[in-house]
Amino acid sequence: MRMFSLVVLVTCLQGCAQLAVSSAPAYAVITGDSSLHAHEHRHVDVRPAREFDFPALADGRQIAVVDLHTHSVFSDGHVWPTVRTWEAEKDGLDALAITEHLEYQPHADDIPHPDRNRAYNLAVESAARMPEAGLLVISGAEITRRLPPGHVNAVFITDANALLTIDAREEDALENAREALEEAKAQDAFVFWNHPAWPRDAPDGILKVPAAQQALIDDGLIQGIEVANGHYFSEETLQYALDNDLVMLGTSDIHGLIDYDYDIEGGEHRTVTLVLTEGRSPEALKSALVSGKTVALYHNQFVGREAEVGPVMSAILTGEAGEMPRNSTVLQVTLRNSSSVPLLLRNLGPRRFSNASDIVTVPAQGEIIVNLNDAGALDPIVLDFEVLNSFIGVGKHLQLRVSVASAKSRLSAE
Ligand SMILES: [Zn+2]
Ligand SMILES: [Zn+2]
Repeated sequence: MRMFSLVVLVTCLQGCAQLAVSSAPAYAVITGDSSLHAHEHRHVDVRPAREFDFPALADGRQIAVVDLHTHSVFSDGHVWPTVRTWEAEKDGLDALAITEHLEYQPHADDIPHPDRNRAYNLAVESAARMPEAGLLVISGAEITRRLPPGHVNAVFITDANALLTIDAREEDALENAREALEEAKAQDAFVFWNHPAWPRDAPDGILKVPAAQQALIDDGLIQGIEVANGHYFSEETLQYALDNDLVMLGTSDIHGLIDYDYDIEGGEHRTVTLVLTEGRSPEALKSALVSGKTVALYHNQFVGREAEVGPVMSAILTGEAGEMPRNSTVLQVTLRNSSSVPLLLRNLGPRRFSNASDIVTVPAQGEIIVNLNDAGALDPIVLDFEVLNSFIGVGKHLQLRVSVASAKSRLSAE
């Protein structure tokens, strides 16, 4: 449930619309005859929703929120797998994979872990005890080697034990790494390269791809890549994913507690992947994932290809025109955000707003009213924005046209 706090009146300030993406309170202009010239905005503080929530796309597909990289005590995590499913339920995830390091087992003296499927099985049992959450648990494991192949997650596997092709505790070993990837392929798994620009493999923060790693990618043994992992984001990785046609992922790679790593009360969300799927079945989800219908969501920023980020934004952001007052051609337009992520927009014009600068924030599950200048002759009414918290290339933001439905014409059509 979302909690709403007090409504307070404050004096309008120039910076009203320029609110930080992660902590944006909702605001709306007071309506009424004198509203267009009013210098008071109504600020409504909304406690940020913890649960991910996205509408369906215009073509009927759904947006599933998945975290395909997490850990428990069965490798180097700090919680029992049950906690991972509880957190997933709290965050409103559609699917979760617990991906234990196969070769790196620092708790082995306390938790010998002879069966590498154990965390998955415990998570499945846990999810079955809370059917109302609708949480899909996906089998997975983290193949943990030096580069190449580095750390690589295989999900939708049938047996994690078969992916362990060397003795445990030998993550530095290079031998049989390709064998592990070929076994994953034999299990028809989806395989992605984890945190490719982490300090061990990229001390200067810039992605390096050794020839042997490129060969694994060219051979189709690695199909996806994390453009975002926990609190890390790599622009070079985004470009590399575009250049190599790799599926883009965001994951939490959580080891401790989500609530310790993310400022949930402040509106942060764990890093995840949005999958644009035909349905919620494992088959539909896997099919969408493998075909690259994904958007990584990192620190309330959408990262992906235009073909995916575009339809997501079009579903999330809608506009509605109010009535145009007599003796004025300034039109009140309500911008609505039906997602759990705030949107930071730049008005590309040519018409400007008389109550905001060119930068406005539409809060998560909220709306704002912008007063559009000189709208009398506009037909149809469209607003062109750049979505500043979206990335469809390095330094490249999605441009989005919002068609504004007229409240008046909609009423007369009913
Ligand atoms: Zn790793
Ligand atoms: Zn990991």
